[in-house]
Amino acid sequence: MSIRENLDQVEARIAAACHASGRARSDVTLIAVSKTKPACAVKAAADLGLTDFGENYVDEAVEKIETLAQPQLNWHFIGRVQSNKTRAIATHFDWVHTIERGKIARRLDAHREGRTPLSVLVQVNADADPNKAGVAAEETMALIEDILALPNLKLRGLMTILARETDPGSGYQSVAQLFGEIKAALNPKARADWDTLSLGMTADLEQAIAAGATHVRIGTALFGARDT
Ligand SMILES: *Cc1c(COP(=O)(O)O)cnc(C)c1O
Repeated sequence: MSIRENLDQVEARIAAACHASGRARSDVTLIAVSKTKPACAVKAAADLGLTDFGENYVDEAVEKIETLAQPQLNWHFIGRVQSNKTRAIATHFDWVHTIERGKIARRLDAHREGRTPLSVLVQVNADADPNKAGVAAEETMALIEDILALPNLKLRGLMTILARETDPGSGYQSVAQLFGEIKAALNPKARADWDTLSLGMTADLEQAIAAGATHVRIGTALFGARDT
């Protein structure tokens, strides 16, 4: 199927999920996850009106970002952040969804100096899966305090990837609850920026939107299966 047909189907799923939970379609941003896909696939998706793209691998992403050279696109880093890649990430991306350590946040902050703040999310390990990245729910607030002290980062909210065994309905609901508890605890200035809940992939975007996702990260349903 073409990206156009895939996008129509994804849009229909998002619209139905928003409708089912009484949310506006404009509350949910579709991030097209283009990892392993060539720049021409991103171009085709951008030509269909998509504006937000997610990438996991820094070198691959930087090559696409530079090839496309479309400054109106928003690039979201959604892979694990290695400390030797923080400069490239802070230079080329608009968002980082996967902050799980203060050290990484400080490096991104230092490399972002002199530019508009980098939007960041804290990745929560909602199901305490030892194989998954992310900070434990009970350690989230301490990491948030560290990030709020960094002038070149704009802390926007939470992101999670659930373990395969976790029921997406209850898993995403628990992250949404944590999101609300943190929001209530933030000072007014930080609370004004706290607006993003990045949940949901191809298999479970409906449960994510029902739980309150503001961003869904969709790869397979848009671009087809990945070869790697
Ligand atoms: C690859 C990836 C996605 C997209 O997954 P699909 O199941 O292909 O939609 C979303 N989020 C993250 C963090 C990913 O690594």
